[in-house]
Amino acid sequence: MTQRQTPAAPPSLPPRRWVTIRAIEHPTPRVVRLHLQGDDLAGFATDGPGAHIKLILPPPGAAKPSLPIRYEDRRAVFAEGVTPPFLRTYTPLRFDPVRLELEVELLIHGDGRAATWVQGANVGDEIVVAGPRGGWKVPDDGDWYLVAADDTAIPAATQVLAALPDRTRIVAFEVVDENERRPLGPAPDSAHWLFRGDDPRRAGLALEKHLRGIELAAGRGYAWIACEADAMRRIRKHLIEERGLSPGQMVTRGYWKLGTPDHPDGDYGQDDLGHGH
Ligand SMILES: Cc1cc2nc3c(=O)[nH]c(=O)nc-3n(C[C@H](O)[C@H](O)[C@H](O)COP(=O)(O)OP(=O)(O)OC[C@H]3O[C@@H](n4cnc5c(N)ncnc54)[C@H](O)[C@@H]3O)c2cc1C
Repeated sequence: MTQRQTPAAPPSLPPRRWVTIRAIEHPTPRVVRLHLQGDDLAGFATDGPGAHIKLILPPPGAAKPSLPIRYEDRRAVFAEGVTPPFLRTYTPLRFDPVRLELEVELLIHGDGRAATWVQGANVGDEIVVAGPRGGWKVPDDGDWYLVAADDTAIPAATQVLAALPDRTRIVAFEVVDENERRPLGPAPDSAHWLFRGDDPRRAGLALEKHLRGIELAAGRGYAWIACEADAMRRIRKHLIEERGLSPGQMVTRGYWKLGTPDHPDGDYGQDDLGHGH
């Protein structure tokens, strides 16, 4: 049982939960699945697919994240000389409330801090999970649903697909190469897998091209799209301006942004509504 004297986070922050890595799997060459377990996960519950958590991770050279000594407003304050941990956003993929075990999949890409950390992570390591937050309330009046995701958003997309009513689904995934393609329980056989190659500057191009070419069925539809932030904006613009979808018919999310570490978790691309994110 993990018991630590963490100063309580202020109520405006999501709860901090210590967890231990119980198992590590490699479903594809670039995806690391962590099984995180801890008593602090009691009561962990999301209110819809596509929720997120923050992983609070140790800086290079530290075995575990340091604890703050106190919070000032929403800001954690650390003891003098202590290197603070860093936070990154991930999807709580599966939670087992009996075993108090949470699965999270981290993509290995370039030299991202979390991507680097996970390649050296070991069973028995302790980290902190903050959250969950968010989650999509799936509208059930769609005649069709479009779900498109890059590799960072595949965990969330599988949750979205599992939560959809039994109607027409148009599904596309963009990953680096054929080795990243894998069976995903709730994805239909018709799901398109697109390969962008190793250059992150090509992120979202294959997805955008594919979506520009698809036929959307008649009737009311909804789209859930999550990928690189600029690509998401181009796709969102296309769906609104050239396909006539209203902002209320889509959830579009920038899960990361080319050239920007730790892109904010609330980028819905709603700049077109005049209130940014
Ligand atoms: C709501 C939400 C849910 C998410 N769920 C997941 C999830 O389940 N699994 C997952 O792997 N990711 C997920 N992400 C994306 C993840 O938070 C980012 O990829 C994050 O930047 C990774 O942190 P890092 O420390 O590895 O890289 P950072 O230090 O943040 O970034 C370093 C550099 O790498 C680039 N970069 C970041 N991500 C990628 C990428 N995928 N490909 C290429 N270059 C990249 C950045 O542009 C930057 O230049 C989610 C994001 C959001 C907002």
